[in-house]
Amino acid sequence: MKLPIYMDHHATTPVDPRVFEAMTPYFTRVFGNAASRSHVFGWEAEAAVDEARRQVAQGMNASPKEIVFTSGATEGDNLAILGAARAYRTKGNHIVTGATEHHAVLDSCHELEREGFEVTYLVPDRTGRIDPVQVREAIGDRTILVTLMLANNEIGTIHPLAPIGAVCREKEVLFHTDAVQGFGKIPFDVEAMSVDLASVTAHKLYGPKGVGAVYVRARKPRVRVDPILYGGGHERGLRSGTLNVPGIVGFGKAVEISMAEREAEARRLRLLRRRLFDGILAEVSDVSGNGPELPQIEADGSLALDAEERRLPGNLNLSFAGVEGEALLMGLKDVAVSSGSACTSASLQPSHVLKAIGVPDELAHASIRFGLGRPNTAEEVDFTIGAVAATVKRLRELMPGMRDRKVDELRAGLGRS
Ligand code: PLP
Repeated sequence: MKLPIYMDHHATTPVDPRVFEAMTPYFTRVFGNAASRSHVFGWEAEAAVDEARRQVAQGMNASPKEIVFTSGATEGDNLAILGAARAYRTKGNHIVTGATEHHAVLDSCHELEREGFEVTYLVPDRTGRIDPVQVREAIGDRTILVTLMLANNEIGTIHPLAPIGAVCREKEVLFHTDAVQGFGKIPFDVEAMSVDLASVTAHKLYGPKGVGAVYVRARKPRVRVDPILYGGGHERGLRSGTLNVPGIVGFGKAVEISMAEREAEARRLRLLRRRLFDGILAEVSDVSGNGPELPQIEADGSLALDAEERRLPGNLNLSFAGVEGEALLMGLKDVAVSSGSACTSASLQPSHVLKAIGVPDELAHASIRFGLGRPNTAEEVDFTIGAVAATVKRLRELMPGMRDRKVDELRAGLGRS
């Protein structure tokens, strides 16, 4: 086992060696511009992009012509949300989203507010889930777009996209989803879920950074999007700029591998997560879970009969009473995880996601997000359990008063998830 251990796979993932191998020829040997129509260098690059477009489309049951390559999901969310809102401006000016969305979505909505749009931010339940009934109630005569994520990047909550999409379809409102965290890990099907626009990115599924895609529905209905970048008219005019051919090839390969291995990997991650959770609970007192309850699983990691997957298989988010998340992260120097606090220049703000699901500030500050991924092993999980237990114990001994103050408060929250 090599230290430090990486357990922050919601932030990013390493490039799979098979993906890296598929990409390498496209840096030096097949280096043409995919838009060059007059020679073989361009044709070869274009053929590689076509193949990747097919692979990415297949991963979400779309057609290749519905895939627009971008620089990642921040751009994708901006293109889908700003682009669709501006294109349908004459139809209405109201957008519906959720309070636990990624900042790429929230800040796109804030920009639309500055342009005169109105935005409703739906509040999820204590597990982070937004109900289709809330979406139905939020849609009005002026609503043009609903944007809700497939799975949350902090607490792993999976949204019920099929019934939400059905509501949008019935109300004739466009439905965008930030599918970044779920794509390649849980089922995602733009037809079955009535999705009109979706953003995905390669670096969350063992592909390279700086490449992503937007799915734009071509029929029933044909969706219009105004570009946010102007230039050579690449990607059917929706996203100008020379295509990142090696990145796109890697993205395609990463999607193909994830689809082939998704179910087996989900079983493996559910088992590792259960081991991590049970291990920490056995070693550390006063731990509270944030997000949906873990599902019942069989010995091989498959879901128990009647169990529903409401949380990403590799996600675990815990709060430790009486310790500071930042101190815990610093103390856990051999395990790379992240906290529910985001350091801003002057203050330590608790995560907007934990706030939205009602976690008190003190516990939100004391939270850790574990993101298990493809390279993680049971041995690494066991090491992490020991490291977390030792660090929490040490920090609590340093601040005994703080611990006593928080136990009751924590207990009050234990039933939450
Ligand atoms: N949306 C979600 C849910 C994410 O987790 C991320 C990554 O942090 C993004 C969007 C942004 O993706 P990218 O890093 O490709 O810009």
